[in-house]
Amino acid sequence: MRPAKMREIVPPLPPIVHNQYAEVRELFNRFVVPSYGRFELAFSHGAGHYLWDLSGKRYLDLGSGIAVCALGHANPEITEALIEQSRKLVHISNLYYHEPQGRLAQRIVGHLAPGKVFFSNSGAEANEGLYKLARKFGHDEGRYEVLTAINSFHGRTLAGIAATGQDKVKKGFEPAVPGFRHIPYNDLEAARAAISPATAAILIEGIQGEGGITPATTEYLLGLRKLCDEKRLLLLIDGVQCGHFRSGKFQSFQRILEGVPGAEGFLPDGLSMAKSLGGGFPIAAFWVREESHGVKLCDLLSPGTHATTYGGTPLGCAVALKVLDVVERDRLADNVRNTGDFLKTSLAGLADRYPTVVKSARGLGYMLGFELQENIPGLAGNSKPISLQVVNRLHEAGVLTVPSGNQIVRLLPALSLPRTLAEEGLSVIESVVKSIA
Ligand SMILES: *Cc1c(COP(=O)(O)O)cnc(C)c1O
Repeated sequence: MRPAKMREIVPPLPPIVHNQYAEVRELFNRFVVPSYGRFELAFSHGAGHYLWDLSGKRYLDLGSGIAVCALGHANPEITEALIEQSRKLVHISNLYYHEPQGRLAQRIVGHLAPGKVFFSNSGAEANEGLYKLARKFGHDEGRYEVLTAINSFHGRTLAGIAATGQDKVKKGFEPAVPGFRHIPYNDLEAARAAISPATAAILIEGIQGEGGITPATTEYLLGLRKLCDEKRLLLLIDGVQCGHFRSGKFQSFQRILEGVPGAEGFLPDGLSMAKSLGGGFPIAAFWVREESHGVKLCDLLSPGTHATTYGGTPLGCAVALKVLDVVERDRLADNVRNTGDFLKTSLAGLADRYPTVVKSARGLGYMLGFELQENIPGLAGNSKPISLQVVNRLHEAGVLTVPSGNQIVRLLPALSLPRTLAEEGLSVIESVVKSIA
């Protein structure tokens, strides 16, 4: 034991939480590859739409782990599904059959149209499957090229960065995987002009996410479908961020084309999904249409042509099935639609009241963004992008959002975020915007 005297001269311990953050930071500094620009925040736990950092401060989460935690944090029904399935079967490999994978594929097909589903582990990997589908489709005619959009984002694998229409993800990793070219988004004539004898497919996001929340127009979607039919190309949609009810419909094209004359029966030939699919459990998938251009497209990737060890494990599929059950039972698509419309109108109201800070509101459902002015006097003299500065101020005020590019702040809340919490988030956003203006 220490003598009493010693104890008196030792200063009181700093709050343990402070040490904890420094310790976590130090572990990352020393042992984690520094490929991410992270915020100065470390979280310990969450519940519903709130997260707590290591100092005990509470945050309203309007980012949901970049559109992943579809039912919020520590959702008891997800926990229960995880426990129940993990007691039975976690993984068996794709050498064998199991019920959850078949059931989940059936449910996904039921939300789209006749076709089949392949399961993988990440969005980038789901897109890799679509590139392989396109190559297999065009192979015998010597076609392999996939056209993608400028400002798109399709993941960080080698083919993913080749497909992504942003130079910053490609830099330093040349030479690029061949077979990708970029076209301006929402420009049908540019797409038509870009088609070469080697082109096999066109891949777009239904709503560009990382590129700054830009939905495809109805004319673009319908025009691309016609163009692809005419030129014997596959129309592929990356629904990794904009899918899984984030727009207020299962897929964003279903929301964008709702009630549009001539849009009945519109379908892409392939569609990738991830993010919200597992509500936080890593699982991804791509759907392939049953038939296209006279080809049985859904059977093109025949035995031996594509595979992944973890794809569609019993555990991942059981959780994804639970997410679908809850979304359907609680009518969360309607919630996203109604509350999303309210949020967007309210954000547009901010642009009206604080025009020196907020330029516009963008997006659909719970895939929203507000665009900031290029030069905001209240934020001058800081070299950080304006979007980052605003996101940081929102952190101080206890709200989590996701920056996109230099000028856009994204709101990608859980599909279950209720109107009351949307209002709570809005009032914090307004107070921060007001303080900057
Ligand atoms: C996040 C994202 C991806 C990549 O998904 P990962 O799971 O990170 O590989 C691909 N496409 C879009 C549109 C995304 O938002």
